[in-house]
Amino acid sequence: MTPTGTQIPVARPFLDEQETEAVRRVVLSGWLTQGPEVEAFESEFAAFVGARHACAVSNCTTALHLALQAVGVGAGDEVITVSHSFIATANAIRYCGALPVFVDIEAGGFNIDPTLIADAITPRTKAILCVHQMGMPCDLASIVAIGKRFSIPVVEDAACASGSEILWDGQWEKIGKPRADIACFSFHPRKLLTTGDGGMLTTGNSEYDAKFRLWRQHGMSVPDTVRHGSKRVIFESYPELGYNYRMTDLQAAIGRIQLHRLPGFIAERRRLAERYRQQIGQIAGLEAPVEPSWARTNWQSYCVRLPQWLDQRDAMQLLLDRGISTRRGVMTIHREKAYAGDHTHRVAGSLARSVAAQENAIILPLFSQMTDTDVLTVVDALQDAVETLGSRPLKAGQAH
Ligand SMILES: *Cc1c(COP(=O)(O)O)cnc(C)c1O
Repeated sequence: MTPTGTQIPVARPFLDEQETEAVRRVVLSGWLTQGPEVEAFESEFAAFVGARHACAVSNCTTALHLALQAVGVGAGDEVITVSHSFIATANAIRYCGALPVFVDIEAGGFNIDPTLIADAITPRTKAILCVHQMGMPCDLASIVAIGKRFSIPVVEDAACASGSEILWDGQWEKIGKPRADIACFSFHPRKLLTTGDGGMLTTGNSEYDAKFRLWRQHGMSVPDTVRHGSKRVIFESYPELGYNYRMTDLQAAIGRIQLHRLPGFIAERRRLAERYRQQIGQIAGLEAPVEPSWARTNWQSYCVRLPQWLDQRDAMQLLLDRGISTRRGVMTIHREKAYAGDHTHRVAGSLARSVAAQENAIILPLFSQMTDTDVLTVVDALQDAVETLGSRPLKAGQAH
C-alpha cells in the first residue's frame, strides 16, 4: 500500500526562531559550556517545580548515576526498580556496581506496583528507583512511605515527567518538588521539554546538590565560572573522582525557552489526549490510558492497550502503511541481551504484567502541533486494525 496524504510521526519536538535566537546569543557571547545560561536555567527549573535545588547535567542517565551515588549506592548493593522502563533506568544502577532488582508494574497501568516493593527488600537494598513512566506519575506517596518505613532513600526517574503533577496534602504539585530524595529529568527530543540532550537533578538536600556540582565537573573544587571571574589567582583541586557530565550553555539557552513553552505544550497535549480518549472509548477491546485521581500526566506518550487477540506488529504495520508511526509498549529490560545472566539483575516475583504491557500496548502519535484531523486519522486506522485484522485467520504456524 502506498501511503497517501500526510505522514504522522509518533512525536515531534517544537522549536522555532526563539530557540535559534537564544543559541545565537550564546554563540556570540564566547562562553559555550556550563556557565551563566546553565545557572539561569537551573534557577528557573527549580522555581517551576518548587525545589530548593536544581543541578543541570548532560542527560538523565548521568543524572540517575549521580543521584544513586549521592544516596550511597555502591558495589554489591541492590536497587529496586522496574524492568518495564527504558534501559537507562537499570543501566545507571549498574554504573554504580549495584544490582537492579526488578518488580512488576501495577495492573491496568504502566508504573511500579508499590505493594510489591516491601517483599523485594533485602539487607543489601540501598535505594528504590521509581519511574514516572511516559509522564504518568507513579504512586509516589506509597513509595515514599515504604522508603521511610525501611529507611531506604527514594530516587525518582522523572525523565518523562517535566510538568507532570501529583496531588499532595490536597495541593497539586509538580513532579520534582522534593517529596522523595532526588528527582532526575531528561531533555532528550523525545520528551516534552528538549535541549537536544540534557538532564536535571532536583532535591531539597543541599549536601546532595553540592555533590552533584562537584561530580559533574571532574570533581573539580572550583567551577570554571568562579575561576574565570576571580581577580586573584586560584588553583583548583580534585578532592573526589568526578565525571564530565556538564550541560552546555547552548543547551541551557534552548532549555530556558522550552521551559517557558512547557505549560502550553501540556495544555495542548491534554486537549489531544481527551480527543483520543473519547474516540478510543468507542472501539471495543481498546483500552485508553487513565489518570489516577491524584495524578495529572503531561501525556509524554499516549499508550493504548490492544485486545489480547490482536497482533501488535500487524496493527502497527497497518497504521504505518497509512503513514502513521507508532511504537510498541515500553521495553522490558530483563529480556535484553545486555541483561543476560544473574550478575546483571535479580527478578523479584513475576514480571508478567511488564511483559504483557510491552507486547500488548502501542504508543500513538502525540505532539503539540498535531491536529484534530490527525487524531481522527489515527483512530480510524486503529478501528480498521481491530475490525479487519481480527477477522483474519492465523497463518499456518503463526504463534500469537
Ligand atoms: C528517556 C529516558 C531516560 C534517559 O534519558 P536520557 O536523557 O536520554 O539519558 C531514562 N529513563 C526513562 C524512563 C526515560 O524515558
